[in-house]
Amino acid sequence: MSLAPGSTIGIIGGGQLGRMLAMAAARLGYGTIVLEPQADCPAAQVANRQIVAAYDDPAALADLAAACAVVTYEFENVPVAAAEMLAATVPVYPPARALDAAQDRLTEKSFLNGIGIPTAEFCPVDNDEQLTEALKKFDGSGVLKTRRMGYDGKGQRVFRNMETGGFAGVCEAMGNVPLILESLVAFEREISVIAARGLDGAVAAYDPAENVHREGILRTSTLPAGIGLQTASAAKEAAAKILTALDYVGVIGVEFFVLADGSLLVNELAPRVHNSGHWTEAACVVSQFEQHIRAVAGLPLGSPLRHFDCVMENLIGDDMLKVPALLKELELVLHLYGKAESRPGRKMGHFTRLVRPK
Ligand code: AMP
Repeated sequence: MSLAPGSTIGIIGGGQLGRMLAMAAARLGYGTIVLEPQADCPAAQVANRQIVAAYDDPAALADLAAACAVVTYEFENVPVAAAEMLAATVPVYPPARALDAAQDRLTEKSFLNGIGIPTAEFCPVDNDEQLTEALKKFDGSGVLKTRRMGYDGKGQRVFRNMETGGFAGVCEAMGNVPLILESLVAFEREISVIAARGLDGAVAAYDPAENVHREGILRTSTLPAGIGLQTASAAKEAAAKILTALDYVGVIGVEFFVLADGSLLVNELAPRVHNSGHWTEAACVVSQFEQHIRAVAGLPLGSPLRHFDCVMENLIGDDMLKVPALLKELELVLHLYGKAESRPGRKMGHFTRLVRPK
């Protein structure tokens, strides 16, 4: 059953992703209510209403469930208990199971390997002794990450050809939380696939984007990625397999490492619209945001067909100073998030530069 025009969609999280979801929902004739503790957040500026409360506030969740025909979210750290509480009275998409799989890097990698999708090798690490043992296993190199709540490279430490000892205090410095050591992958490039699954089980995948990160933050996504057709198909197939295994509804972002021989390892899943898919609003028939709204509203998925080659670039902190010059470029789509204050590392907007065939 699809949502009737005029129905209301709940969005947990009020950042730029929620904002772009609310805008896409409005274009399809739906209203939105955003649940977000920070008042006047980017999403609330374009939504019909904001509930200003914590994501796990029971009264706020009850209010959201009563006012909405379906609830979705813009970030993966929505408390699973909150999603389950909502799901008792209103459909919640993507399903709470996807949150569960994506919130903990150990669960995520075990799930992926369980359905035959390779990842970097990994070892759970809870103390310095386990770190010493795990680093020995990976020849002294690896990436130590917090299992939960890591994003944009936060909560990570890289070890390269280290001696296999002398790690006293490392786990404490990481906050004494459960950790995971991943083998250090010598990847040739990083790509991501944005894909969607509809309520009817149909799957649509966009072309893989090639992503460049600096200081753990995505800087650019380039289309097409510098990969062969076989690698591109394999990435799309892996995303489809993940969506089906999770009985997923909505858009997912799947990040991959591409190795020298063109083979793929999944780095991580984002059970939501994703920064590396922002180019779809400028270069595709249907953007990732509309695709997500279509999926959660039970509408048929749109085409992920891409009209243009393009490069999406994030505007981070002082990059906002470039805006006047960017506005003079004719084949450039600018999107700003309505954040009043620019701070170092803060995502303020993005732009997509279209690249016409010569
Ligand atoms: P993540 O937060 O897991 O997406 O990691 C942020 C960035 O760190 C990735 O986009 C990679 O550039 C790098 N990175 C993460 N894990 C690994 C790994 N196991 N081996 C090599 N580089 C990694």
